[in-house]
Amino acid sequence: MKKIFFTLLIFCFSCNSNNQLPNVILILTDDLGYNDVGFNGSTEIFTPNIDGIADNGVLFSEGYVSYPVCGPSRAGLMTGRYQDTFGFGKNPLFTPKDPNMGLPLTEQTMADMLKLSNYRTFAVGKWHLGAHESLRPLKRGFDEFFGFLTGGHRYFPEEWTLADETEVKSQNQAYRTKLLRNDERIEEKEYLTDALSRESVDFIDRNSDKPFFIYLAYNAPHGPLQATKEYLDRYDHIEDKTRKTYAAMVSAVDDGVGDIISKLKEKGIYDNTIIYFLSDNGGRLRGDSDNGELRGKKGNLFEGGIRVPFAMQWPKEINGGQIFDRPIISLDIFATLKELTSPEIKSKNELHGVNLIPYLKGENNNDPHEFLFWRNNFMQNDPKLRIEGSAVRYGDFKFIKNKETDALYNLKKEISEQTNLKSEKNNIYDSLNIKFKKWSKTLMDPIFLGLIANDEYNKLNPDRFTY
Ligand code: CA
Repeated sequence: MKKIFFTLLIFCFSCNSNNQLPNVILILTDDLGYNDVGFNGSTEIFTPNIDGIADNGVLFSEGYVSYPVCGPSRAGLMTGRYQDTFGFGKNPLFTPKDPNMGLPLTEQTMADMLKLSNYRTFAVGKWHLGAHESLRPLKRGFDEFFGFLTGGHRYFPEEWTLADETEVKSQNQAYRTKLLRNDERIEEKEYLTDALSRESVDFIDRNSDKPFFIYLAYNAPHGPLQATKEYLDRYDHIEDKTRKTYAAMVSAVDDGVGDIISKLKEKGIYDNTIIYFLSDNGGRLRGDSDNGELRGKKGNLFEGGIRVPFAMQWPKEINGGQIFDRPIISLDIFATLKELTSPEIKSKNELHGVNLIPYLKGENNNDPHEFLFWRNNFMQNDPKLRIEGSAVRYGDFKFIKNKETDALYNLKKEISEQTNLKSEKNNIYDSLNIKFKKWSKTLMDPIFLGLIANDEYNKLNPDRFTY
């Protein structure tokens, strides 16, 4: 009798662990160049831990984000939807008194969705989806938050001289606030990247017995370029100070990834944890980052702006060592996680991504997407000043149109977008042009003024920084 009982107990325990929902760690870097990780070919910057994610899982060589700058790219990632669908077409300003500057409350976040399956959720690092109290992480599906609200931050604790948002008197000063732990401003002593890694490890330590989701949004290697001696010392082979500091900042992220993986292994939950690694947009190319052969950079729709370092691992379910060379997009992360965790529940809004698991398991050999779309909102409020960028990815082809460019490229033949095939393949060009116009009819104009309209916003809101 006793033996049967123990057999049943072991059986039930193993069923339970087999059915356990995977933990999810979504690691987002900021402005990381396509070629600035070892898995995409960097020999200058050392990223052994980040490379391990690709080695033990999948390297997406054609992994895209939905916008070439921080805020809109994050809005797409966090909702699984093209962000212009809900008017998030610009980089938000730091405006803690403005409830309309950020991710609209009509949107369901990835954390909201995972809460439906009782995940414990943690946002760490850069938020940038709204600084108003109604738009902060704890109001958007996260149980815990550690980080800062605006689009960037200084990295050294001694520079965090402002107690809270009420002491911020201009956009750039927001980089100097003390960090938030949930709703409390705290005294922090560590280099920012190290602090974000430490908090992620601690969260894993406290939550390893139930499914969790960590959205770890490092602001590295976004400016200002600041690194500690510990990391700078690894790069004696780089003479240029800008490049060296940038490389050191990437190394700090890599060490954090290593610490997280060690903790997962220590807790026995490594195999059933999905880890994503990507950047929110391409490198800036200001002497810091390297986009390799890709044309363009942060801010534009050439590959260098939107194709990013992108990898994922899930040892329990997905074979390692894969290179997936068909186009996928950050929006697929939401769709994938939803299908894994709550397939029976209808999502609040229409999703624009695809569940990639069948493709990664070899159960579906088609392209995940027939088309991918981008719209770049350079425009000011005056429609006469509107300069709109558009791009469509279709199979091997890329349609791109903006102020300087009107082209069709074959990316499989030429990754660097040089040879314009518009005349030669006019039928494809025309059909993608029409396809873009049709898609753009589903979009909204930006619902708030962005970073480049700082002065205009201040004129319209003279009490922006008064409390
Ligand atoms: Ca960015």
